[in-house]
Amino acid sequence: MKYCSHCAATVSTRIPQGDNRERFVCDQCDTIFYHNPRIVAGTIPVWEDKVLLCRRAIEPRRGFWTLPAGFMENGESTEQAAQRETMEEACAEVKLGQLFSMITVPHIDQVHIFFTAELVDGRFAAGAESLEVALFAEQDIPWHELAFPTVKQTLQRFFKPDPAGVHVFDILPQQALRL
Ligand SMILES: [Zn+2]
Repeated sequence: MKYCSHCAATVSTRIPQGDNRERFVCDQCDTIFYHNPRIVAGTIPVWEDKVLLCRRAIEPRRGFWTLPAGFMENGESTEQAAQRETMEEACAEVKLGQLFSMITVPHIDQVHIFFTAELVDGRFAAGAESLEVALFAEQDIPWHELAFPTVKQTLQRFFKPDPAGVHVFDILPQQALRL
């Protein structure tokens, strides 16, 4: 960032007193601007043993398949974010199950979390950010056309014979490249 959102003066990078890492600090009013990881929340929506995937209509990874997920908004819970994103991207109403995966992606400063979910009535359609939305049985998952490593690794774990529990792991840059 270049300018202070409070007083419009220039902002520089320095270590504030009492802190131990560089922050954006206003040169005039000394306001500190903290940049912290963002949370992406989504679902693994299931209907009759198939998983609902969305083919992305937007960059990044336009044309690739993903689980419905997106950035949390202020004022909502992770569950609400996951359900909202599923409605926006797949026009699907879901009943949430358990937290399934929580994946830290340090090199892009994000944490991705996915809940298991069931479609309420089996209805879905492409939302504004999706080219198409479809149900896939395990053997039909487009493994080589998935948009993100967090989605791929969540699905790989989901289809293991005993996927119980919460899957907490990290994705490092080398793994991201091997998608
Ligand atoms: Zn300022």
